[in-house]
Amino acid sequence: MAEILDGRKLARDIQHRLKDEVVQYKNQIGRIPRMVNIMIGDDHGTCAYARSQQKAADSIGISYDLKLLPEGISQEDLIQLVQDLNNDESVNGILIHRPVPEHIDYPAVANFVNINKDLEGINIINIGKMMLGETHLMPCTPAAVMEHIFSTQIDLKGKEVVIVGSSAIVGKPLCLLLLKQMATVSVCHIETSRAGLLPDYTKRADILIVAVGKARLIKGDWIKEGAIVVDVGINQVDNKIVGDVDFEEAQNRASYITPVPGGVGPVTVVMLMRNGLEAFKKQNNLVN
Ligand code: NAD
Repeated sequence: MAEILDGRKLARDIQHRLKDEVVQYKNQIGRIPRMVNIMIGDDHGTCAYARSQQKAADSIGISYDLKLLPEGISQEDLIQLVQDLNNDESVNGILIHRPVPEHIDYPAVANFVNINKDLEGINIINIGKMMLGETHLMPCTPAAVMEHIFSTQIDLKGKEVVIVGSSAIVGKPLCLLLLKQMATVSVCHIETSRAGLLPDYTKRADILIVAVGKARLIKGDWIKEGAIVVDVGINQVDNKIVGDVDFEEAQNRASYITPVPGGVGPVTVVMLMRNGLEAFKKQNNLVN
């Protein structure tokens, strides 16, 4: 039976370390990090996510403001707000909650976020810096996946990693982070499935990461014995949240596996907090 990679526990452990650092800097310079989440419109799901961010920030000692904007806000007004936050020295980090309304060009607005306050690594300059392995603000979900993998203490050098899902927010950045660790990475997507090749790839993975958004896409017998399986997917099935991997089947094949819920999600929130602290450190010339 696979060992469960408990995201809530991992998140708590990282949270404790971040809290200690925040206390240390508060004693040193009398300031704490401050982040602002811009949320346009409102719906139940996004509010739940914002609540979990607020909770994490409170327990670490980071100041967290939620700026709720009306659904109809113009792109110009949104950009003005971003620029005001860029110029506000008391603000260390900014994030813009997705999804945004259709009339907002998200990438265009993202490029106005100051690159040193860009908590989600969405400004095109930070995306480019990540390509070169130079950024200190890593996209949160890929960073959370890496933390889960690191927690198994596997040496990634030369390991076969297969990522299913090639989105700009999960699959592609993960590919870069894994290449930096000298893993051999394959990235699969919808056309891999259509070509009937997906199981051929997943079966050879020492580490299998799935970020698609299709419940139980990955069957147990598509998983190599002893593989590490990280399931990023979030799907609602009969009022239950499940991942992209058939968990019960996979548990009998994998050596480690993340559950859904309680796997990647809780660590993602803490990665956002870590970025908030990293941004604060850089802006205050602090080194640990
Ligand atoms: P996306 O829709 O942007 O990308 C989906 C990817 O899956 C694409 O590359 C697509 O080609 C591929 N795909 C679709 N159907 C496929 C199939 N049958 N076989 C193989 N590949 C297929 O999605 P996203 O934004 O990257 O999110 C993916 C999943 O991860 C969603 O369930 C989302 O809710 C979840 N997610 C979780 C977190 C978290 O923190 N836990 C964060 C972001 C996204």
